[in-house]
Amino acid sequence: MAAVVQPHERKCAVCTNDFTTPKILPCGHLLCQGCVISLISSKLDAGCPLCTCPIVELKGNSPQSAADVAEALPTDSVMKAIVESAGMMGKDNMCTVCDNLKAEYICMQCFEKMCESCKKIHKKMAVSRSHAVESVSTVTPERLAASRPALCADHGDKQAELFCVDHNLVICQSCSKKHSGCKDVKPLDEKMKSAEKILGSLAEELEKAEENLKQAIWNLCARQQRADATKDENMVIVDSTCDRLQSMVEDCRKEMKNQISHSSSKFEAYLSNVKKDLKKRLGKVTSHKHLVTRATTVRPRPALIHAAQTLTDRVNSLDVNNELEVQPWVDPSPEITKHCDDVVRRITAELQSLELQPTGVEVSRSFNLSCV
Ligand SMILES: [Zn+2]
Ligand SMILES: [Zn+2]
Ligand SMILES: [Zn+2]
Ligand SMILES: [Zn+2]
Ligand SMILES: [Zn+2]
Ligand SMILES: [Zn+2]
Repeated sequence: MAAVVQPHERKCAVCTNDFTTPKILPCGHLLCQGCVISLISSKLDAGCPLCTCPIVELKGNSPQSAADVAEALPTDSVMKAIVESAGMMGKDNMCTVCDNLKAEYICMQCFEKMCESCKKIHKKMAVSRSHAVESVSTVTPERLAASRPALCADHGDKQAELFCVDHNLVICQSCSKKHSGCKDVKPLDEKMKSAEKILGSLAEELEKAEENLKQAIWNLCARQQRADATKDENMVIVDSTCDRLQSMVEDCRKEMKNQISHSSSKFEAYLSNVKKDLKKRLGKVTSHKHLVTRATTVRPRPALIHAAQTLTDRVNSLDVNNELEVQPWVDPSPEITKHCDDVVRRITAELQSLELQPTGVEVSRSFNLSCV
């Protein structure tokens, strides 16, 4: 026997009562026929209250009444039978035979609810002797639904033994004459067996589809995890590369500045030496100029002649006309520019290699959804 239907599963999500004519929506959920009508007559594109899937699959623009749409939905006859059985069991638990005492038993064939003494009579009467009578506490609505006999669609009290496919009706032997013109009338048992077979293969098919979809969702989650992990790895690569590039730039800045200050202070020292030397020469020239000026101003004889002789020798030894040549300033810029260009080339190469890093987040749309 199939899994037990919990009492809440017999309840409609709209009216919260047990289903009345449960209709199967396109999403597979159930609603009472009346509840479907009230839902879509207020809003034609109303969704299923359980999953929001559309109730009406709008095809073309043929306007249908809400009642027609609800009528056209298939009925869940199994749920209908379970709800009816539950209703039968749920009514006041009085013996339906004597209407006097509390019912403790139920007949699985004729659904009579009985007290202890009426049950004894039921088991003695020839017509009901073979009936299976069970304690009400152990019978479930599903079991009761399963044991309900098929009754002739025409004679509500007669056991049906045949199924007319043409009319989609269960019929009794005596009614078979009325269906003599029908092409397909089969024994009920045979029809039941083939229906069970069909349901069996449907169950198998749905099981497989469910498995495939679960697997596809699992695969998707795994891909997402991989993509997340790759994202984190790539973030780390970018961070570490940029840190390295930044320190390259900083190193370059320091080195270039060092080079510039080194070359500049070297040149300053050289200039100050040259300046010192020139000042010394200037001092000598100035003091000799004083000697000459004094001699020509005072003009003592014969000292002037001696002076002319001595001072000429001295001034000649001073190399007054030595060329005032200063080493030219060697501009370090070409060297610096070359160094900077080199760093830029290295950084460019690093950045290019970063762009070539495989991202790993390949997007493929070939999910294996070969189900149903
Ligand atoms: Zn309802
Ligand atoms: Zn739904
Ligand atoms: Zn009784
Ligand atoms: Zn009975
Ligand atoms: Zn009949
Ligand atoms: Zn027929």
